[in-house]
Amino acid sequence: MGRVFNFSAGPGALPQEVLEQVREELLDWHGAGMSVMEMSHRGKAFVGIAERAEQDLRRLMNIPDNYRVLFLQGGATGQFSAVPMNLLGDHDRADYIQTGSWSKKAIAEAGKYCQVNVAAEGGKDQPMSIPPQDQWQTDSQAAYLHYTPNETISGVEFHWVPESGDVPLVADMSSTILSRPVDVSKFGVIYAGAQKNIGPAGLTIVIVREDLLDRASAHTPSVFNYKVQAEADSMSNTPPTFAWYVAGLVFQWILERGGLEAMAERNRAKADKLYGFIDQSGFYANPVARDCRSWMNVPFVLADDGLDKAFLEGAEEAGLATLKGHRSVGGMRASIYNALGEDAIDALVDYMKSFEARHG
Ligand SMILES: *Cc1c(COP(=O)(O)O)cnc(C)c1O
Repeated sequence: MGRVFNFSAGPGALPQEVLEQVREELLDWHGAGMSVMEMSHRGKAFVGIAERAEQDLRRLMNIPDNYRVLFLQGGATGQFSAVPMNLLGDHDRADYIQTGSWSKKAIAEAGKYCQVNVAAEGGKDQPMSIPPQDQWQTDSQAAYLHYTPNETISGVEFHWVPESGDVPLVADMSSTILSRPVDVSKFGVIYAGAQKNIGPAGLTIVIVREDLLDRASAHTPSVFNYKVQAEADSMSNTPPTFAWYVAGLVFQWILERGGLEAMAERNRAKADKLYGFIDQSGFYANPVARDCRSWMNVPFVLADDGLDKAFLEGAEEAGLATLKGHRSVGGMRASIYNALGEDAIDALVDYMKSFEARHG
C-alpha cells in the first residue's frame, strides 16, 4: 500500500515533501557524513539548523523581538505545569477558561500549584459553544489567563483572541499553531506540542514575552525554567535535535507556500468543504456551534452508531486512515492539519457520500 490520507489527531500527518527531504538527508546531512540524529547539539552544523528553524518560525508567525522562542521537551502536558511554575510569581491564583478535555487537564495540573479560577466553562451542551467574553468571571489579581484556542478532541475552536488587559494571556496552541496568522503581541505565552502541526513528537515550542522571564518559582526544574532555557538557547540540556530539525523543514515548507496567510486560506477552504458536506447531509452530523467549529479537528457522528465499525473499515480500505473519534466521545474525527491538502478532503467526502448511498 502506498501513502494514505492520514487524519490522525496527533502525532499527525507531515508534508510528504518534508519526509522526502528527510529521507534524502538522512544518512549524510549536507556532506557532514552523518545524520542529524548523530550530531552534537553544540556543533556548528546543528546550531545552524537550530538557528535557522527559529528564524523561520519568527518570520512565519511574525514574532516580535521582545519574545523568546524555546524548543523544549515534555509536551504540552509538561507546559501545564511549567506555566504556573514560571508565571505565578507573587500571585497565588490564575484564571482558566474551560472549553473541553485539554483545558480540563491544564486546570487539573495547575491546581497543584495555585488556586485555579475557572472563569468560564463551555463545550458542554450541544451544540458545543464558547461563552462570550462578557460572561467570563475573570479575576484582576490572577497571575495569567489561560485558554485552549483549539480543543483537539471536541473540535471547538476560538476564532477570536480574548482580551486580557494587563493579565498575561497564555494559550495552549498545540493543535492550531501555524494554521493561520496570529497576533503574537497579544499573548504572554504561547505553547504547543509539535506533533500536530509542527513536526515529530518530542518537541514543544514555547513563545514567551521577555518581561515574564523573571517570575519562576525557586523549585522550577531548570529544563522547564523559561529563563534558564532562554539564556541557554534551549540547550540547558540536550534538546530534541531531530524533531527540531524536522520542524525547521516544516517551517520552510510553509514559507515556500506563502506562509500563514496561505495556510489560513487553504485551511478555511478545507474546513468549509467538509462542514458544508456534513451539514447538507441528513446522515452525518457535527456537534459544534457554527461560530466555533475547528478548522483542524472535525468530529462527526453517523445517524446510526451501529455503522461506525463498517464506516471505519471501509475508510481504511479507501486509504483514509485514523478517522476514529477520541475514545471519550466516540464517532469519527477527521484531523485536517496543514499537511493535508484539499485532495484529502475530496477523498473523504467522496467516501462519505458513497457510504451514505449504501447505508443511508
Ligand atoms: C495533543 C494536545 C495536548 C497534549 O500534548 P502532549 O504533547 O501529548 O503533552 C495538549 N493540548 C492540546 C490542545 C493538544 O491538542
